[in-house]
Amino acid sequence: MRISRITVWQKSLPLAEPYRLSGGRLGFESLDSTFVRIDTDEGLAGWGEGCPWGHSYLPAFGAGARFAIALLAPVLQGRDPRDIDRLNRLMDLTLPGHGYAKSPIDIALWDIAGQRASQPLHQLLGGAEGDAVPASSSISTGTPEEMVALIEAARAEGCRTHSAKIGGSDPPADIARIEAIEAERLPGEQVTYDVNRAWTPALAVEVMNTVAVHGWFEQPCETLEQCIRVRRLTIQPIMLDECLLSFQDHLDAWREGACEGVKVKPNRLGGLSRARQVRDFGLAVGWRMHVEDTGGTVVADTAALHLALSTPEEHRLGSWLCQPHLADDPAPGEGARSDGGDIRLPGAPGLGVAPDEEWLGEPWTVFD
Ligand code: MG
Repeated sequence: MRISRITVWQKSLPLAEPYRLSGGRLGFESLDSTFVRIDTDEGLAGWGEGCPWGHSYLPAFGAGARFAIALLAPVLQGRDPRDIDRLNRLMDLTLPGHGYAKSPIDIALWDIAGQRASQPLHQLLGGAEGDAVPASSSISTGTPEEMVALIEAARAEGCRTHSAKIGGSDPPADIARIEAIEAERLPGEQVTYDVNRAWTPALAVEVMNTVAVHGWFEQPCETLEQCIRVRRLTIQPIMLDECLLSFQDHLDAWREGACEGVKVKPNRLGGLSRARQVRDFGLAVGWRMHVEDTGGTVVADTAALHLALSTPEEHRLGSWLCQPHLADDPAPGEGARSDGGDIRLPGAPGLGVAPDEEWLGEPWTVFD
């Protein structure tokens, strides 16, 4: 089997509501997403999507993904799509780093592998652990009242795990947000306070040592080193996200005892292959993990959720879906969807979802 064509589309994904995080430092109204279809000479086609949320969230951006793919696609042409690890090494040799650009290609290769094996991807990634993955909400930064109201709305949709976006340079404001949310938290609910890098270590220590929180704090500071310092001076469990880009970063985090859990996101790490390595490392060292993607439509959500479903429940926290935040849907009713807070995966072979090509429109470019 050979790769015969690689087609790339760019789509702007307007958010249904503007979204703010990192204490309001970062705001988003639309996401820039890249879709990849890999065709083979035997008639199978695999799909992937890469959407690094926005260009201010990670060292990644949509146009960067597409121009990186323009370098990578000619190297992949004519190769056997079944050689997923080998093709990943070839991509690394061609262009070190830039995992966010490789992610949609890697996901499309996994889609082809699943179709060829007549198995849904979660089967290839380890097998389903339970019937569904609990849905996690994502709560935009706002006043305490606004954030409590957003959590109530997410609760009505069945979410019992919430990611509340806080952070900033005003400790009393963050303490007020946290205390208001904790006061309304129901038994069994879990809230992760996601700072998105906004705090200095001193500010993190001040806020975290003031509030009584049963949940997690996520990515309190910009760098791994700063987060390690916070870890040593506080007691709440810490989840890391944006500062972990490579496998080595995860090794460093573990060796330094920086965290008790991590976010596992294919687009940040370089696709399902790299995300699976991190997930399996996390199992070995006892981390708890939210497995989800950085952003995108149901296509990106579904790829990440196959990995989430194949993650043992004692290590798995809820997964966030980006799709409810978007104004558009390229595959209504298909792929990973939340049903009352339970995210269920398609049983069809491979990824189990493909975007409507009319919705995608003209390709950005075709490599054949
Ligand atoms: Mg986060």
